[in-house]
Amino acid sequence: MNPSDKPIPCKRCQQNILFIPLPSGKFMPVDAHMFVAKEDSVDVIIYRTDGMKQKGVKRGDVGFISHFETCGVIK
Ligand SMILES: [Zn+2]
Repeated sequence: MNPSDKPIPCKRCQQNILFIPLPSGKFMPVDAHMFVAKEDSVDVIIYRTDGMKQKGVKRGDVGFISHFETCGVIK
């Protein structure tokens, strides 16, 4: 069973998060809902579904946002 398949609530802020495996073998907490870029942006950092970090997105790119960025932020 892959632990990244099951969203769990963050202990700090209760948002649903996933742990995705990185190429390094570590797991990264990310927001459970996937990010879809609505416009090109050079500043947005996402983790692609293969765990690779990507800085800068083009409209339509899909990935995960590190939960370190969003923890505690009420949407
Ligand atoms: Zn949190």
